[in-house]
Amino acid sequence: MTSLLARNYAPLPVTLTSGAGVWVKDVAGRTYLDCLAAYSAVNFGHCHPDLVAAAHRQLDRLTLTSRAFDNDQLEPFARELTDLTGTQMMLPMNTGAEAVESAVKLARAWAERVKGVGENQSNIVVMDNNFHGRTTTIVSFSSDPLARRNFGPFTPGFRSVPFGDRAALAAALDENTAAILLEPVQGEAGVIIPPEGYLAEARALATAAGALLVIDEIQAGLGRTGAVLESGRQGVTADLICLGKALGGGIMPTSAVVGRAEVLGVLRPGEHGSTFGGNPLAAAVGRAVVGLLRDGWPQAAARERGAQLRAGLDQLGGLGVDAVRSVGLWAGLDVDPALGTAREICLRLADEGVLAKDTRQQTIRLAPPLVISPDQVEQLLAALRRALRAQAS
Ligand SMILES: *Cc1c(COP(=O)(O)O)cnc(C)c1O
Repeated sequence: MTSLLARNYAPLPVTLTSGAGVWVKDVAGRTYLDCLAAYSAVNFGHCHPDLVAAAHRQLDRLTLTSRAFDNDQLEPFARELTDLTGTQMMLPMNTGAEAVESAVKLARAWAERVKGVGENQSNIVVMDNNFHGRTTTIVSFSSDPLARRNFGPFTPGFRSVPFGDRAALAAALDENTAAILLEPVQGEAGVIIPPEGYLAEARALATAAGALLVIDEIQAGLGRTGAVLESGRQGVTADLICLGKALGGGIMPTSAVVGRAEVLGVLRPGEHGSTFGGNPLAAAVGRAVVGLLRDGWPQAAARERGAQLRAGLDQLGGLGVDAVRSVGLWAGLDVDPALGTAREICLRLADEGVLAKDTRQQTIRLAPPLVISPDQVEQLLAALRRALRAQAS
């Protein structure tokens, strides 16, 4: 059967119908251990009862008002999320890309209105191999040819430097720099972890240049690395933080920019907005997500199950795994090209009952829901060993 869908994805041949916790079921009734968790949007597991209950309650009350009127869920959501993240103000949006777009606009407006940069003169320093979303402005500063080719002309005003290179970052900053924008761990690039102390160095360089530090925690944040924020885990305070993915609990597209009131406060009525941003259904689910994180179990699970997974992955050297990078319950495995591509291994893994996703040519990303049990981590490791052996033979 030919698909009527635009071919912007090449999914593994699995059609899912239901999910609970770490498990998903397909149309043939097969169950799989979900080790992608929708790129960490399902950090708390499929259909987490608290989140589903919050959604059901709100679904019967009020779902959308637009920001032309206030709703009774949004202000409490802002209070609870800023409390959780130690920030002062929130701008609600829907998707991650919108949060990043919003942060770019905020940084530019702040540069012109507060820092005193001339109109249209500011620049934003970004990292090579970044992933911040798919809008035309965001792909303007991507270094992935696939994300850019034939999608120009591009938005100017960005400079890209190698991720983790302090000297290159220092050299790129000038008096017109509005912000440094980075992911604390580059997820799509293959779970790339910068050198120890790099985030703190970026903070110090931004401060010295009178620029903002904008951290995109859309994939890293909200539990995955063992903390509410990966930047917070490292003791680094950003001026703006982009949140998304897990903020909607896998139920509603929910994103936000949180940060300092001096920066978020530059926006005036009518300058920015979104019809669905801050809708009461998303806000109610977001409040339940904040409740889970306030509890602390997702962060503890990421640390504990992450250490267990890492110990197992470190044993895979003889099976064609060239490198393992991990933080919390989030790992990137580079597979030896002699064994095949990461996608081929992921197809084998699906046969073994585990769903995972390749990123780039040779990297498998593992990011199971944080509700995964110790036994299920062992199941994942056993499936991985079988898939690697099958591919080798
Ligand atoms: C997924 C992601 C985005 C984009 O989020 P969408 O909801 O897909 O628009 C932005 N930044 C990072 C780090 C991401 O992982």
